[in-house]
Amino acid sequence: MDVALLFEARSRVLADLEARQQATPVAVSALEEAVSARSWWAEQWPEGVQYVAGLIAQDVQDALFDSTGRWPVCDWCDEDAEHMVHIQPDLGGPDPTWVCEESGNPVAPLGQLPRRGD
Ligand SMILES: [Zn+2]
Repeated sequence: MDVALLFEARSRVLADLEARQQATPVAVSALEEAVSARSWWAEQWPEGVQYVAGLIAQDVQDALFDSTGRWPVCDWCDEDAEHMVHIQPDLGGPDPTWVCEESGNPVAPLGQLPRRGD
């Protein structure tokens, strides 16, 4: 397992937490937990490395959903009701991209969510 890839995955997810102003202590510790769990997972299955970044994002999303709330909330489409963007492909990769769950439109690659207000 290439450690650089894990660091890259971590920094992409952290960038998207920061972009949505949700890099709270709870979120960051959920991120650390996901990185360490997925690092073990990728060691067992080296071909899975292309999925790791997307899976970490999904892990953090699930953890936040159970604790502090929804991340990331979509505000890039015309739908008014609060909804989320999700990682596509569902498997976590390759090329993980945030996609609006309502419109189905891609919003940004993982790590490049627009900042709130942009
Ligand atoms: Zn949307």
